Amino acid sequence: MSPELNPRESFGVLQAPAHWQAVDLLSDLHLQAAEPLTFAAWRDWMARTDADAVLILGDLFEVWVGDDVLAHDPFAQACAQVLQQTAQRRHVSFMPGNRDFLVGDNFLHRCGVHRLQDPTVLVLGERRTVLSHGDALCLEDTEYQQFRREVRGPDWQQRFLDRPLHERLEVARQLRTESRKRQQSREVHADADTALSRQWLDSARSPTLIHGHTHRPADHTLGPGQTRQVLADWCLDHPPHRAQVLRLRRDRCERQDVIAP
Ligand code: MN
Repeated sequence: MSPELNPRESFGVLQAPAHWQAVDLLSDLHLQAAEPLTFAAWRDWMARTDADAVLILGDLFEVWVGDDVLAHDPFAQACAQVLQQTAQRRHVSFMPGNRDFLVGDNFLHRCGVHRLQDPTVLVLGERRTVLSHGDALCLEDTEYQQFRREVRGPDWQQRFLDRPLHERLEVARQLRTESRKRQQSREVHADADTALSRQWLDSARSPTLIHGHTHRPADHTLGPGQTRQVLADWCLDHPPHRAQVLRLRRDRCERQDVIAP
């Protein structure tokens, strides 16, 4: 195992205030202007949920090349407005995914959204839950892990953000094309590594890991008293239509399907 993924690496901690009863977990919406129905379903969910908090575990956006897109892109502005309006009524947190790790503090601050470190331990009453986007757990894809270490470093990010917006958008397009080609050439996509998942749970003294990224929603038993729950991706613009929120309460956890508006 690479030292960068050492399970003793510090976890973020989100201590839920005493009054929180329900927390919505969602990820992998891959919001983009070309998918208006997915956006509308998300916007409506954010407006009507009665959870105390909404925690977005990465890949909210299909791509994010820097907070300066906000000045030029009406779709990004519409997304910001949804976040802003929701954050006025309840806690909203964002954990970066592999598509939107360049979402900056500037954008989050403007929307009133908190940042979550990956991984984070959510402490809700007696319940400790490890939250992650999930890409750091997919160790099998060594090429991706190497890429991830590079682009998550401050040097790469600064160099990238210093480039003009049109160049950044072009790089993002190329990366997406390459990633699609890579996915099509693999028979089986990398999944979260079981040994590392169990190490994270041991380190965090938690029975449950919740992550997205793989787009394969399921509940897996990792070992005695250890569970890995995978969030669903969202898509209402192309079949198969899917959109789901995992609602975490102090004593239980349920999947709620989101109906298209
Ligand atoms: Mn992802």
